[in-house]
Amino acid sequence: MSTLRSALDELRMDDLSSLPSQALAARLDEIEHAGRVLEAERARGLAEVERRRMFAVDGHLSSAAWLAHRHGVSRSVAEGAVRRALALEQMPGVARAFGDGEVSASAVGVLAAAREAAPEAFVRSEEGLLDAARTMGLAELRATTDAWRIAADRERALQEEDRRHERRRLDLCPDLSGMTRVSGELDAEDGQVLISAIRAQMDAETRSSSRPDARTPTQRRADALGEICRAWLGSFARPSIGGERPHVVVTIDADALLDRSGAGRLEDTGPITPEAALRLACDADLTRVITQGGSQPLELGRRTKVVPPGLRRAISVRDRGCRFPGCGRPPGWCDCHHVRHWADGGETSASNLVLLCRPHHRTIHRGFGVQMVDGRPVFSRPDGSVIQDRAPPPT
Ligand SMILES: [Zn+2]
Ligand SMILES: [Zn+2]
Repeated sequence: MSTLRSALDELRMDDLSSLPSQALAARLDEIEHAGRVLEAERARGLAEVERRRMFAVDGHLSSAAWLAHRHGVSRSVAEGAVRRALALEQMPGVARAFGDGEVSASAVGVLAAAREAAPEAFVRSEEGLLDAARTMGLAELRATTDAWRIAADRERALQEEDRRHERRRLDLCPDLSGMTRVSGELDAEDGQVLISAIRAQMDAETRSSSRPDARTPTQRRADALGEICRAWLGSFARPSIGGERPHVVVTIDADALLDRSGAGRLEDTGPITPEAALRLACDADLTRVITQGGSQPLELGRRTKVVPPGLRRAISVRDRGCRFPGCGRPPGWCDCHHVRHWADGGETSASNLVLLCRPHHRTIHRGFGVQMVDGRPVFSRPDGSVIQDRAPPPT
């Protein structure tokens, strides 16, 4: 032990700033190796503590409690160390390899979890799994032991799968700040479905636009989920409930829409600004409700599309996608924007409509401008300066 101390003291004397990078990396490799050997020794010692029940002498109830108290580490760290020590007792080959510094502590953890799942089968497979731990990265090793566990104990694997399936949940909570909190856990199958769908949506968006995307990855995932749900609500494949297909309902007072004074309201998620209500109203189905005294519905109008399907098709053919300079996202991801809003008396006609993708539609309703000049949209920044379209499509 005194040799170990003096070796460590010597190590601490080295000046690292003058060390060549290759030597620095080699030094870290050596430290990792020594750390594994020491960790294996700690495990051997802890197993001996457990065998002698040394903890009881000091009045502790377990080796983990004894260790946590003696070394001032957290209870969970101590429990992990003891669990690993006891597991290594049952995996002599792994213990030897760990002591020789051939496998990392993390890899030992993965192997210990595998043994715990199927102890008898592990005895037969220890050498093979140990070889995997020597050569594979941690993620690959985990995948390998997972596959081994399923093969080793089908019955248990099925039970575990059922347990995970039972744990599935999805919670959607509109909160007071106007955000909706989405949290949950999906089983492997539905998790993969969600990941694949969101990834496909994001890939398609990336391919459809040559512009660098200013959004963060987490914002892009959120947008992708919204687009997927919008597409589903807009498709004819969905079931109808009570003779009506489900849709998003926004309510706004007609006078408030005109003078931009009142807030709109989404059915479940609460108030939205008049700007957002106007944007949603640009290209929506409308139902007029005449009310008495502000709240009593007196008369319910027929639901009509603001932009009739034929006109929408014509605009899609003409614009071929989002017309914001440099964008061009395909028509399926676009709204028909009224250059002069219908609430202000703007016509729903080709000369007053322009296709905008969802992010750019939002931009236009939040300070950016668009005017029709000679039948072509001209976009401007909030300060009024014109955004040049680099390559206008031929008309
Ligand atoms: Zn609009
Ligand atoms: Zn766009």
